[in-house]
Amino acid sequence: MIPRNRCVQNLKAGYLFPEIARRRREFAASHPEARIISLGVGNTTEPILPHTNNALVEAARALGTAAGYSGYADEGLLSLRERISDVFYAGRFGPDEIFISDGAKCDIGRLQLLFGARTNIAVQDPSYPVYVDGSVLTGAAGSGNGAGYQGITYLPCTRENGYFPDLSRVPPGSLIYFCSPNNPTGATATREQLGALVGAALDKGCLIVFDGAYCEYIRNPLLPKSIFELDGAAACAVEVNSFSKSAGFTGVRLGWTVVPKALRYAGGESVNDDWARLTATVFNGASNIAQAGGLGALDAEGRKETRALTDFYLGNAGIIRGALQSLGISCAGGDNSPYIWACFPGRDSWEVFEEVLETCQIITTPGSGFGPAGQSFIRFSAFGHRACVEEACARLRRTGIKP
Ligand code: PLP
Repeated sequence: MIPRNRCVQNLKAGYLFPEIARRRREFAASHPEARIISLGVGNTTEPILPHTNNALVEAARALGTAAGYSGYADEGLLSLRERISDVFYAGRFGPDEIFISDGAKCDIGRLQLLFGARTNIAVQDPSYPVYVDGSVLTGAAGSGNGAGYQGITYLPCTRENGYFPDLSRVPPGSLIYFCSPNNPTGATATREQLGALVGAALDKGCLIVFDGAYCEYIRNPLLPKSIFELDGAAACAVEVNSFSKSAGFTGVRLGWTVVPKALRYAGGESVNDDWARLTATVFNGASNIAQAGGLGALDAEGRKETRALTDFYLGNAGIIRGALQSLGISCAGGDNSPYIWACFPGRDSWEVFEEVLETCQIITTPGSGFGPAGQSFIRFSAFGHRACVEEACARLRRTGIKP
C-alpha cells in the first residue's frame, strides 16, 4: 500500500470540534438526565427567512422545467457577482474579480494551493482553525506541539493588545490570515488597525487573506466591513466571504472570494489569473439553487432579512455577554460579532470547559483549541434559539461561575 501523506500525518490529532463532540457524548452518557445546551459551535440555528427561502424554492422548481433548467455555471452567475460588487464593495470590482464559491472555508482550503509549501504563514493567535490546518495540509506548516506548528508565525491577540497583533512580528513575504470580526475573539479591527495591516503588508511584500465571514454583524458604522475599504488593499489582499452567517446558508453553502486584478506576485504575475485557473481545475461552481438564494438575499427584501437575522443573533450575544459580565467575567466581542470571548485568568481552557459543562450543562469552546494565545479563554457562540440562550444564562447566573 502507498504511504500516508506526511502532511496529513502532521495534523494534530482531534480537530477541535470532533473532540468537543466526543466530550459531549461522554458527558451525556454518564449524565442521562442532563439537558445540555450548546453554545459551542458556530452553526446557525434559525430558519432561512421567507423571501430568501422562496428564491431557493423557485430556483429548485425551475430546474424541473425545460425553460428553467441550467447546468454548470463555473465562475458563478454574472448577476450575483455584479450584485456582490454593488452591495459589499460599492461596485469597485468587476465580475471577473469576484469568484462564487461553495463557502469561505472551502475557498480558504483551495487558496492555499496557490501559494504552496514554501510560504511563510502568519496568523492571528487565536484563529479559525482552517488557516493553520490548511497550511499543514499543503506542507507550509510542519509538525506541531502544544506551542503550535513549525513554520507558522503566531501573532498573539490578547487582552493587553486589544486583540490586535504586533505587526512588527510578521516576517517579510508572509501569507497573512486576518479575520475581522474575529472568530473566536469577537474583536473587530478599527479602520486605523486595518490601515496598519495593509501598510505592513505592502511594506513587507505580504499577501493578506482577509476573512470577512462576519462582516454583516458590524453595527458600529466607523468599523470597516471589508479590507478593501482601506487604500492599497487591492494590491496586497484577497477577501473571502460567505452567506453562511448572514443568510443562514451554513447548510445551503454559498460564498465568494474577491481577487483583485491589481494583485501581483513578487514576479509580477497575476494572482487573479492563477485563481481563475485553479478554481476551474478543482471546483465546478456553486449550486445554482444556492446562487439564486444568494441573489434573493441581496435584493432589498433580502437585505432586510439579513439585518433581522443578524440582529437576532446579536440579541443573543448581548444576553450572554450581560450574564458573564454580571458574574465579573471579563469578555470581548458580542457587540459587532456573534462570539463572546470570556477570560478566566490563569486557568486552563479545557478545565473551564469541563467546569461549565459539569455545573451548567452548557457546551462552550475551549480557547486553547484556536491557538496558544487562546489558553485561559472559552468562547460562547450566540448561534442558538432564544429560549436556550436564556436558559443557559439563567444557569450561569445560578451556579455563579467565577472568573
Ligand atoms: N470563516 C470563519 C471565520 C468562520 O468562523 C467560518 C465558520 O464558522 C467560516 C469562514 C466558514 O464559512 P462557510 O460556511 O462559508 O464555509
